[in-house]
Amino acid sequence: MKTLSVATKNQTTPRREKSSIGSHNGNEADDEPPGESVTFCNPEEEPPSKTVTTRYRFFKHIPDSTWNDWKWQFRNRITTIDELTKFIPLFPEERDQIRLVTKKYPLSITPYYLSLISLDDPDDPIRKQAIPSIQEIAMGSMGMEDPLDEKGDSVVPGLVHRYPDRVLMVVTNICPVLCRHCTRKKEWRNGGWVRTPSEVEAALDYIRQHKAIRDVIISGGDPLTLSTQRLENIMSKIRRIQHVEIIRIGTRFPVVLPQRIDNEFCAMLTKYGPIWLNTHFNHYHEITPEAAEACDRLVRSGVPVNNQSVLLRGVNDTIETQIKLCQSLLRMKVRPYYLFQCDEVQGTEHLRTPVEVGIKIIEGMRGHTSGLAIPTFVVDLPQGGGKVPLQPNYVLAQTEEELLLKNYEGRVFRYRNPNPQTRREEAEVATPVSGVVDSLLAGADLPLETKGEVDANRVVVRS
Ligand code: SF4
Repeated sequence: MKTLSVATKNQTTPRREKSSIGSHNGNEADDEPPGESVTFCNPEEEPPSKTVTTRYRFFKHIPDSTWNDWKWQFRNRITTIDELTKFIPLFPEERDQIRLVTKKYPLSITPYYLSLISLDDPDDPIRKQAIPSIQEIAMGSMGMEDPLDEKGDSVVPGLVHRYPDRVLMVVTNICPVLCRHCTRKKEWRNGGWVRTPSEVEAALDYIRQHKAIRDVIISGGDPLTLSTQRLENIMSKIRRIQHVEIIRIGTRFPVVLPQRIDNEFCAMLTKYGPIWLNTHFNHYHEITPEAAEACDRLVRSGVPVNNQSVLLRGVNDTIETQIKLCQSLLRMKVRPYYLFQCDEVQGTEHLRTPVEVGIKIIEGMRGHTSGLAIPTFVVDLPQGGGKVPLQPNYVLAQTEEELLLKNYEGRVFRYRNPNPQTRREEAEVATPVSGVVDSLLAGADLPLETKGEVDANRVVVRS
């Protein structure tokens, strides 16, 4: 199978031996207890599983009950270079570069997500998503701050109304992990905020007054940084609006902090269905037992889970990676929904791939795995133009009567259209389908192969 990877090896990483993590004070989420510190453990005592290995490398003395407490994870996010260098081996020059980048685009990683990084691999796909790169500012003039023009479509603070029947409620700008490819990267500079009750009320009022809105998407930042109680307060009010049919939640917590999807949260969701949850797995290394349990809890609570991944250079830009990712998603009952072309956001240019890469990936997946595992590849147009799905071209030629179609193996088939005019003529003269496609094939210089008398008109062409 073809590989479209554009990843390059750029450096080797020095090893570090000891580390500790300090408390973190920038947490704006509700009900957060104060920070605790963690002690480094001997790497020699690593168990075999990859996820557990990195966890044990640094967090062995953290009891499972603490490790699985999402508030502990959230509070102990790594947000400074000094903290980061205790875990990730960095050259001094690299450290200086990252420090420079974080002045513009800050850093935040949960201990759980950090534990997924393979420390010896500078091209690790989790690392590329979470650790700042100098390219964010070196190529910083390329792209736009707000490529989707969400500002232009904001009807009240925190409410984007672009499509007639749905709205996007941005309830906070806080995320447990700051993904380097984030479309809302410009929001990171404004400090952490959560919408005030009066702002939420203004957004709800707008929804109440616009009866065409049948779908409300709660997003951020990541809305799950709010306490379950605060989320319930918002969701219960949305559910009381009669014309709102579905509520959608956009969150990356199942990927970066799956412990957040606890029983309390799932029990709350069951009260306000139908609720759909869209999450954002980008690589199969993110599919861990913890993530699978979180998705299982959601599905058992009646919440279908869809995945919206972003195509990223050197992270998931091969057919093999996408097939592995999407098949792993299906195994944990998550539907691969969209594969997004990375938006033209300032500070993300180094992670963007040419549009053709996405189309070739979809072409390479089709036929090699079930259709359920194939997401729709989408470009979200600048200036609020909306999403455009892009597909490989399977239609080689077309007339009113017939099409010339290419299948996943590159074989070419004639396909008769049920054209009423043709049917009438056929009934009158009782002749086989005309040779329109034959004339299309005439100059194509393609070997033909018929499938026998029964469907002699269905010519198979090997390209
Ligand atoms: S979770 Fe989503 S909103 Fe938050 S930083 Fe990542 S991509 Fe951006």
